[in-house]
Amino acid sequence: MKIDRRLREVDPEIADAIQGELNWERETIHLIPSDNLASRAVLEALGSVLNNRYSEGYPGKRYYGSQEFVDRAETLAIERAKKIFGAEHANVQCYSGSPANMEIYFALLKPGDKVMAMDLTHGGHLTHGSPVSATGKTYNFVHYGVDRETERIDYEAVREMALREKPKMIVSGATAYPREIDFKRFAKIAEEAGAISMADTSHVTGLIIGGVHISPLPETDVVMTTTHKTLRGPRGAMILCKEKFAEAIDKAVFPGMQGGPHDHENAAKAVALHEAMQPEFKEYAEQIVKNAKALAKGLIDNGLKLVSGGTDNHLILINLTPIEAGHGAFAQKALEKANITVNKNTIPFEPSSPFYPSGIRIGTPAMTTRGMKEGDMKEIAGFIATVINETKKYKLPEEKTERNACFSRFNKEIDENSTIRKVRKDVIALSRRFPLYEGVSYV
Ligand SMILES: *Cc1c(COP(=O)(O)O)cnc(C)c1O
Repeated sequence: MKIDRRLREVDPEIADAIQGELNWERETIHLIPSDNLASRAVLEALGSVLNNRYSEGYPGKRYYGSQEFVDRAETLAIERAKKIFGAEHANVQCYSGSPANMEIYFALLKPGDKVMAMDLTHGGHLTHGSPVSATGKTYNFVHYGVDRETERIDYEAVREMALREKPKMIVSGATAYPREIDFKRFAKIAEEAGAISMADTSHVTGLIIGGVHISPLPETDVVMTTTHKTLRGPRGAMILCKEKFAEAIDKAVFPGMQGGPHDHENAAKAVALHEAMQPEFKEYAEQIVKNAKALAKGLIDNGLKLVSGGTDNHLILINLTPIEAGHGAFAQKALEKANITVNKNTIPFEPSSPFYPSGIRIGTPAMTTRGMKEGDMKEIAGFIATVINETKKYKLPEEKTERNACFSRFNKEIDENSTIRKVRKDVIALSRRFPLYEGVSYV
């Protein structure tokens, strides 16, 4: 068993899968707002020998010996995280956003305590107390949403709810909300209500670092962010908090919820933070928003309806109810056939269901990474509108048992649709103008 053979030689099936993904990423308009394209430097750290170590504990206080280099990498990640956010304390060991949120609740609450957070169908995350999540099963979540008219957070309504409900913690942050969130105002509301303020900035961390959006710090007690979304790092998360919560947070992460840290991932987080400290990152963050606004305008100009009428961030929610409630699945599939990757999503006050939702969620972080600008967004808006137009005649059958048959007929027809085939050609041509990971190959 030699360990220095290349992947292609050892496992051609997996090499094929990875090469397939690379080819696909190169020829696709990738609009899933939670996705991004990490740099080769980040991917190199991720694929490094730091994967080989066990290092339970924290830098300088480990349960295993010979941690000089692991400590060096994790300390760099911690110092950079504190500096970039202006945070008093950082824990960079969180495996991902979902466990990190649970770690915060575990550190600062008791089972059954009341927590206020944004409703899932209004843009909140599963780990903000959805009944199907361990968070919702363990803690007593009450949810705020967006205003029915404006489809934006009504801060005065949130304040009134906080004073009425007296929660132990108030969570701000969302996963499908196209407007800027005033994290500082949330911290103020929490303070007034005597609650701990927690901000989950996962989606917009890159925008905050780039100075485009309001930072929750230094006012907010605890902040959680994933590292792989607009921050453009490895999959993972970190927690930033005030010094008074540092010990509780560190204990909740390890040994509370996790074992050995993923040292390769933490080194890659340090690389991503280093990249985010460069002046180009500010330009990147600004361009993400410019692109999203141009894309939103293009979609509206093509007759599509957007939740809240537009965007302030990297994300857009298309409301497809003018075609039909529950149309999201048709639109997602047809766009996929045209090499445009999006995800179906619920909209506020969803009239259909999460599996057949009425919205499409798109975003600009990945395509901005590839170097696309406002003009490209206008072109993409045209592609999206053309494809969605082709799906209009398909309606979701009322009878659940008829849905599978309807979708197989739809799939077949969409496959042969000449308009969609033409868009696909144009998408590939546009995508190829922005080379990705040149020279990388698993063949
Ligand atoms: C993505 C996301 C998470 C969860 O992160 P995972 O790494 O997927 O577990 C938590 N909160 C918000 C707001 C998110 O957008």
